[in-house]
Amino acid sequence: MDLNRRRGISPEMLRVFETLPGMYLVLSRELVILTASDLYLQAMGKTMEAVRSRYIFDVFPVDEKKEGSFRLRSSLLEVVQNKKPLQLPIARFDVVDPENKGAKTERYWHTQNTPVLNVAGDIQYIIHSTTEVTQQVIAERKLNISQQKQMATALQATQLNKRLEKLFADLPARIAILSGPRFIYEYINPIYHQHFGYRDLIGKPLAEALPELRDHPIVDELRKVYQTGITYEGKKIRIPLVNFEEQAPADHYFDIMFQARFDESGKINGIISAIYDITELIYARKDIEKQEQLLLAGNQDLLHANEEIKASIEELMTTNEELSIAREKLLGLNTDLELQVSKRTRELEMAKKVTVAQRERLIRFFMQSPIGICVLDGPQFVFELVNPAYQLLFPGRPLRGYALLQALPELKGKAIIDTLRRVYRSGKPFEGSRHHILQANTENGEMEDRYFNFIYQARHNDEGSIDGILVLSFEVTAMVRAEKRLKEEQTKKDEFLSIASHELKTPLTNIKAFNQLMQQTNDLDKLHSFVSKSAENIWRLNKLISDLLDVTKINSGEMQYTMESFSFDEMLQQTVENMQMITKSHKLVFKVNDPVHYYGDKIRLEQVVSNFLNNAIKYSPTKEWVVLSSKVEKEQILVSVQDFGIGIAAQDLEHIANRYYRVDSARMRFEGLGLGLFISSEILKKHGGTFWVESEPGKGSVFHFSLPLTLKK
Ligand code: ADP
Repeated sequence: MDLNRRRGISPEMLRVFETLPGMYLVLSRELVILTASDLYLQAMGKTMEAVRSRYIFDVFPVDEKKEGSFRLRSSLLEVVQNKKPLQLPIARFDVVDPENKGAKTERYWHTQNTPVLNVAGDIQYIIHSTTEVTQQVIAERKLNISQQKQMATALQATQLNKRLEKLFADLPARIAILSGPRFIYEYINPIYHQHFGYRDLIGKPLAEALPELRDHPIVDELRKVYQTGITYEGKKIRIPLVNFEEQAPADHYFDIMFQARFDESGKINGIISAIYDITELIYARKDIEKQEQLLLAGNQDLLHANEEIKASIEELMTTNEELSIAREKLLGLNTDLELQVSKRTRELEMAKKVTVAQRERLIRFFMQSPIGICVLDGPQFVFELVNPAYQLLFPGRPLRGYALLQALPELKGKAIIDTLRRVYRSGKPFEGSRHHILQANTENGEMEDRYFNFIYQARHNDEGSIDGILVLSFEVTAMVRAEKRLKEEQTKKDEFLSIASHELKTPLTNIKAFNQLMQQTNDLDKLHSFVSKSAENIWRLNKLISDLLDVTKINSGEMQYTMESFSFDEMLQQTVENMQMITKSHKLVFKVNDPVHYYGDKIRLEQVVSNFLNNAIKYSPTKEWVVLSSKVEKEQILVSVQDFGIGIAAQDLEHIANRYYRVDSARMRFEGLGLGLFISSEILKKHGGTFWVESEPGKGSVFHFSLPLTLKK
């Protein structure tokens, strides 16, 4: 763990390696094993405990007699020294047979050691990846010389195939090969693909791939060519096509050529379609003069282009011929080797199945990974692979097959582009943290702030040069939010502590001062006034301290309630009288006070009423009335305390019962800790009651509370 930390490899990254559907070892620069993929451990018959944190050659001792074994060592040492990826020739390395303990089975491996460098260019860790090629090696060993000849011919055939594909790719026309009577898209060249970038054509029949063509006469022409084999050429054919998802079809104009494709027995098995888009040319007919000129030039271009297409198609046909000659040769050879070939085919099928299964696992991993993964291909950063977690970063936006700036033009000129280019140039991985993205919530569509960590890692081709970038993204929104909340909570707490100490100090200083004055005076009237002022401050101090204690009790769930039966109206009367005794500035009056018996904690309810009265007095300094009413209605006691003071703005109303909350404008002018209403609301809740406020800034507030009369002894 410690070693991983120092190397800067996150546990998530190691987990990725552990679950990768291939055989991987991750080594430190000192060749200590950091982790291994499950498949590796399985193939080597080892457990994670047996390998982790151990020197690789303690786990797999070097056998000087075996070439593969010491080659592995020298390769790893070379990688450490040169910091460059290195492939090993296929090597034999027998492993323990899980079925037959003690015996070893013959295995062949293709191994690659890839160093991953940090920003300083030092090795961060080494990926040792191994692919088992036993099946292929054994199959290949069984091939005799004539099979090698067959390979040579096959090679020639694939080269021809490649030439063919290259030719298609370079043509200025849109080329598609449609196979079978349903015209299933078998091949399209890049510019054809560009046109329909947002939809997948390959493998789909024409009617499904381009439904807007369903009743178009061009499809009849296509069928005719398929039936008769006679090449079709059409000029300025108008075809409505949907260019962008969910948009209405737009008219396009094409020059079209359909040519039949024949199989080895001479039967038609498909159509080669070559289309030249002349839409822009047609749309350019606005001004008549211009139109004529344009048409003239355009037609010539067209002629030229058509000739080019024709020449290309001719070349295509010649290549096709070459291809079928090569195939024939192959067929001839095959006859002698039929037995071996079919055997080899079976073996290859087997090997293929294994590869397919591996690929499927990889795809599953890729699709289900909570880590967003995408592969950007080539220097234009074309989205080659995008997994769903990555797609979620850009919901509803087509990425695959598009260059980065084409798919996300808003990134133009942004730092991320420079960063990607740097990684592409230098091969040094880049880690970006807490990248902010404003993104629509997938459930309710509201925009929200989200945060992601990114890793850009260069991808290397077989020759070891960089040909793309692997992007991994992890969402860290929850972490960032939690940190933010923590910080806010901390600031609130700090603020509260400074207010609390200030609030406690004020009455204490006052008490001290009045006590000194008392000692110095002989005047009885003055003495009385000092005593009563001192008592007032003691009362305030006492209230602050007991509020603080109450909050602590509420927070720890230790608030005690003593329930008893008492006369509620008498309790109210008494509380108001007590309060009036220490209040000179205001007159506290009852509008109604219905007589009623109640079962609850009398002292705590007195505290609620005192708090409401105290606030009403405190927040109406220039007024002289506070009006109370207590009514019994529908099995409830409804109490309200009305003042005519500063009032509360609507946006503050919902917060005032929160712990430590004080309305900003009141904060500076009135003392208090913002605890009274929090405590009152807790006490009312305990009695099954609740409180609410009606208020208008500048006019005053009415604080109501209700208590159900259903609480029984
Ligand atoms: P404190 O009065 O100690 O600040 P409270 O919890 O009793 O704490 O009240 C919370 C906040 O609600 C007060 O800071 C004040 O802004 C507002 N408030 C409470 N009662 C009134 C009232 N009667 N008139 C205006 N504002 C009030």
